[in-house]
Amino acid sequence: MTRLLTCKQFLQELNEFLDESLDPQIRAELQKHVSECPNCWVVYNTTEKTLKVFKGMEAKPIPESIRSRLMEALDRKFKAKGGKCGGSAEV
Ligand SMILES: [Zn+2]
Repeated sequence: MTRLLTCKQFLQELNEFLDESLDPQIRAELQKHVSECPNCWVVYNTTEKTLKVFKGMEAKPIPESIRSRLMEALDRKFKAKGGKCGGSAEV
């Protein structure tokens, strides 16, 4: 069973994806999305790096401020492109 994720869904799960507690199946789907969607890969990569910096200081999930900033940045990207990214399941 393959359930393709939209970028919005990916971003909603991103917090948990970077956490170790995520369900392995969902994790695999997110991994798949990242490998197919350059936009989300960038977000994932940036967030992961940011998270590592934060974790070096204190053990915390992604701060909401950073998360919403990433969401906004991605949103603008999509609008600038005038379409959906390659990883989207929209037909
Ligand atoms: Zn995506």
